[in-house]
Amino acid sequence: MQFLSRKARTVLPYTAGEQLRDRQYVKLNTNENPYPPSPRVTEALARVAGDDLRRYPRPDAGLLRAAVAEREGVSPENVFCGNGSDEVLALSFPAFFDGDGAGACFADITYSFYEVFASFFGIPHTVVPLRGDFTLDLAAMQQTPCRGYYIANPNAPTGIGVHRDAMEAFVAAAKDKIVIADEAYMDFFGESLAPLTKRYPNLLVVKTFSKSYSLAGIRCGYAVGDAALIEGLFRMKDCFNSYPVDAVCEAVCTAALSDEGYHQRTTARIVQERERLRGALLALGFTVPKSDANFLFAGRAARSGKEIYTRLKQEGVLVRFWDKPVLRDFCRITVGTPEENDVLLQKLENILK
Ligand SMILES: *Cc1c(COP(=O)(O)O)cnc(C)c1O
Repeated sequence: MQFLSRKARTVLPYTAGEQLRDRQYVKLNTNENPYPPSPRVTEALARVAGDDLRRYPRPDAGLLRAAVAEREGVSPENVFCGNGSDEVLALSFPAFFDGDGAGACFADITYSFYEVFASFFGIPHTVVPLRGDFTLDLAAMQQTPCRGYYIANPNAPTGIGVHRDAMEAFVAAAKDKIVIADEAYMDFFGESLAPLTKRYPNLLVVKTFSKSYSLAGIRCGYAVGDAALIEGLFRMKDCFNSYPVDAVCEAVCTAALSDEGYHQRTTARIVQERERLRGALLALGFTVPKSDANFLFAGRAARSGKEIYTRLKQEGVLVRFWDKPVLRDFCRITVGTPEENDVLLQKLENILK
């Protein structure tokens, strides 16, 4: 430890979901897509290997930014791409917040990386508790002195989304405070704020290819917003790593965006299956808030989240569990294929007997 900086000795890193390889699991713990990416991705992979890999990629991810801009109805100057939306979110902290004065505000129960990034970059932050029904307390957040907000919409790990009208009112009221809307699961909800970035210079929308596009392995995410905000992200990136989006990533994600029909079909299938799975969990006596994402937040009276998680793991089914207040009564279950969900339900039935 003697060679480590104070920071390296004391930071609390993010804990990702388990990626176990000791046996074959039905893996419903990290919100991965149960379907493969578009077949166009396979074609793109073969093509890019041929000549592109000997060169550095485009430093501005220009090809991909143009494709994203087209999908989101904005200009390429309104798009920033990074190595996973995690990187985009990480860079947003030093781009929009200072180490002194008013800091960042987010919910107490939300994507836990916000807290990790804020601490890492030394940004003051205030957490606002969710309401009793697990919804965001936007009114309380509005009253909180800060420089800006992080809002996961739909929120994680609850799965609950906020409708576009309510979010727009929040962004409008925030005025000179920045609102960073983390829309990692938005394609399962369909209420994106991306079109509003043209009207609100204080709104940054962050999205990812990891969930609805089934490309968690490629590590790509993006932000959409006013050109001044995008410029801020570029300034941070270029102090750190000029080429975060590699040539394979750019080719693959551009190919995925070109197949919107496939994207919509697989997303619709997951949404349909989410509703069936929720119905079955309710029938088994679970409390399950209505989800707008590709996962369900499920708890069962008299059985702790840990017990459900541990018993399922023994049975070869992985779900996510956090040993923290409020969360410890629940598990987060990713919606799998109908077959995977049936295995989960069958195991749960046995466990609850
Ligand atoms: C999965 C997730 C991300 C991170 O996505 P990557 O693009 O894979 O880094 C960001 N925000 C939330 C809320 C997520 O659940």
